[in-house]
Amino acid sequence: MHLRKRVLVTGGAGFLGSHLCERLLARGDHVICLDNYFTGTRDNIVHLLANPYFEVVRHDITFPIYLEVDQIYNLACPASPVHYQRDPVQTTKVSVHGAINVLGLAKRLRIPVFQASTSEVYGDPSVHPQPEEYWGNVNPIGVRSCYDEGKRCAETLFFDYRRQHNLQIKVARIFNTYGPRMHPNDGRVVSNFIVQALRGEPITIYGDGSQTRSFCYVSDLIDGFVRLMESPPEITGPVNLGNPVEFSIRELAEIILAEIGGPSRIVARPLPSDDPRQRKPNIERARESLGWQPKVGLAEGLRATIDYFDQALRRPGELVAT
Ligand code: NAD
Ligand code: UDP
Ligand code: UDP
Repeated sequence: MHLRKRVLVTGGAGFLGSHLCERLLARGDHVICLDNYFTGTRDNIVHLLANPYFEVVRHDITFPIYLEVDQIYNLACPASPVHYQRDPVQTTKVSVHGAINVLGLAKRLRIPVFQASTSEVYGDPSVHPQPEEYWGNVNPIGVRSCYDEGKRCAETLFFDYRRQHNLQIKVARIFNTYGPRMHPNDGRVVSNFIVQALRGEPITIYGDGSQTRSFCYVSDLIDGFVRLMESPPEITGPVNLGNPVEFSIRELAEIILAEIGGPSRIVARPLPSDDPRQRKPNIERARESLGWQPKVGLAEGLRATIDYFDQALRRPGELVAT
């Protein structure tokens, strides 16, 4: 039988956080969802509120918090370029001060703490696909730096708390993930293309569309989170979690257009600065140490995501323009 744990999920009202809360509640945990609703929304968690083992705390993780829990998943941080560039100073603060506070909490309670790091720590990679040993190619002063360097510094803090205080840390480097409850207006490629196609609007490819990404379906990713958290203490990560099947952005646009149909045509838009050319995880470490690999292919995952946006677009007042 699974022993009920009290689990803190920071950023729990966001896209990934809400799926994680759902998964932990489903296995019988007591979940404390902490969020300041910067990019998250109560809509993502409203279906969980009736569960007596679900608690919500409105709090900004850049400030200290005192709670009694058994595990922490630290997901609080805006994740899409549009959102994290809106207030870049705050983005770095969330990553760095947020990490310090969850690490301080984990240190006081002597409990395991999970960090949602990112493939962005590899920057515009010169090694392909990216293994965890690769140190990355990151611009420290560009428009993406607040996120990339914030997350890199958070990793540094996690490993120093381990070395200095012998903390149990679990660092996941997450690659592009998609699925229901993505923000319709956060500018990420999967949500943009689906919403554009459903509305019959032009599909906006930035640059020539030859840049690549690898897209992981949300249920696979959450499975990886839980496996990492439950793994033996010596497994600290960093561990890449993502789907290693790589697509060009043009291919993605064509797949989504073919699935949805309608009058949309592909149009070119300028490539944002520092946009990585290619990205694909090497997931050998996750396979070996966690027995994890993604199960959901792009076609299947896109169908579920398209259904979600299709429903959401029909609700009055939902989904402001992209
Ligand atoms: P999201 O924006 O949906 O979720 C982030 C959540 O954090 C939101 O609910 C937001 O309101 C909350 N938040 C932001 N600042 C906060 C603060 N100061 N205090 C408390 N809460 C705060 O994004 P997501 O896609 O669910 O990403 C979750 C985590 O995973 C992030 O740390 C992100 O960097 C990481 N990640 C996501 C992806 C991806 O493809 N989705 C890829 C790599 C890493
Ligand atoms: N902290 C927190 N909750 C706790 C314990 C600590 O938010 O339960 C914060 C605390 O405010 C501190 C940070 O975490 O700023 C780091 O804690 P640590 O004990 O490592 O550092 P110190 O308090 O010695 O500066
Ligand atoms: N992109 C695009 N059209 C869009 C949104 C994004 O061509 O409407 C491109 C973007 O330039 C990048 C890729 O798709 O090359 C993935 O972008 P996203 O913001 O989803 O994630 P990230 O760049 O952080 O991997």
